[in-house]
Amino acid sequence: MPYVWFPHIPHFERKSMEVHKRFCTFNNYYHKVLTDYGGKVYQIPINLATINAFYGKSLTPFEAEKLLDAEIAKVGIQNPINLEEKAISLIGRPLYDAFIKGYTIKQWGTDPRRLPPYIIARIPLRYNYNVNYFDDAWQGIPRDGYNSIFNRMLDHPNVQVHLNTDYFSIRHLIPETCMVIYTGPVDRFFDCKHGKLGWRTVAFEKEVQHVTDFQGTAVMNYAEVSVPFTRIHEFRHYHEERKYPRGKTVIFREYSKELTADDDPYYPINTEADSVILTNI
Ligand SMILES: Cc1cc2nc3c(=O)[nH]c(=O)nc-3n(C[C@H](O)[C@H](O)[C@H](O)COP(=O)(O)OP(=O)(O)OC[C@H]3O[C@@H](n4cnc5c(N)ncnc54)[C@H](O)[C@@H]3O)c2cc1C
Repeated sequence: MPYVWFPHIPHFERKSMEVHKRFCTFNNYYHKVLTDYGGKVYQIPINLATINAFYGKSLTPFEAEKLLDAEIAKVGIQNPINLEEKAISLIGRPLYDAFIKGYTIKQWGTDPRRLPPYIIARIPLRYNYNVNYFDDAWQGIPRDGYNSIFNRMLDHPNVQVHLNTDYFSIRHLIPETCMVIYTGPVDRFFDCKHGKLGWRTVAFEKEVQHVTDFQGTAVMNYAEVSVPFTRIHEFRHYHEERKYPRGKTVIFREYSKELTADDDPYYPINTEADSVILTNI
């Protein structure tokens, strides 16, 4: 398997946080995402600041809701038949065109009119200035990084680690009475006898920028199709408690792409064909 590096932001209900605390301490990072569209920067998920900046207004929550209700009524979609129609029926066409359309095309490599409506049950939409990306109150980044968590978890006499071992090459050696937690692609687990699921993966391009702070935040999304990557991560913002050098910062551009034989599958595409396969599994 290729070595892949991407940022992971733990966000928990309190209960699971307690389990993690056995293995690490967390810093105070609270996830926020911004998005670049049309040369301007907006808050995401769409909130009152996004709506006001986008429409150039200073609306109250009630006024913003009325404005979006009018946008939704303008298109009058009652029974959406694809993802695009569903999104427009939830937030209106202007916000869809700006913040959902291009990003979805890049993320899924597919025209949103070819994706089923049920992929988006809802679009997070806030009529207040809450800028938190996740709703979970418990968030943070492990202070010593992820390796230290796994080193502590695996440091137990009952744990054996076999690296570079394909589960399928040892499956026949595992007694049937053993409980197995398999974390690979679900279609492969069933030897693809119900069909192959569609998967997407991500690729990262690392760059050292010779400035102290490249983008002022950990994650900046790029909503337009004309920008080939989906987002830029700047790692110093995940660990505000650490001392970083001045005049130098690491960024990763993230690209969503089709899966090749060398890639790890990350996101199931979830087309209608995929959902038939999953139902049969
Ligand atoms: C780019 C990206 C960013 C994300 N960011 C966040 C985030 O910030 N916060 C969050 O909560 N979630 C995030 N997620 C989602 C989160 O990463 C996943 O939900 C989570 O990793 C799933 O855990 P898992 O153990 O099921 O699978 P994975 O983490 O995918 O682990 C599966 C493991 O199984 C191994 N494997 C697969 N097949 C085999 C095989 N045949 N034999 C042996 N080993 C095998 C793989 O190599 C891999 O190591 C993100 C996902 C992506 C793709």
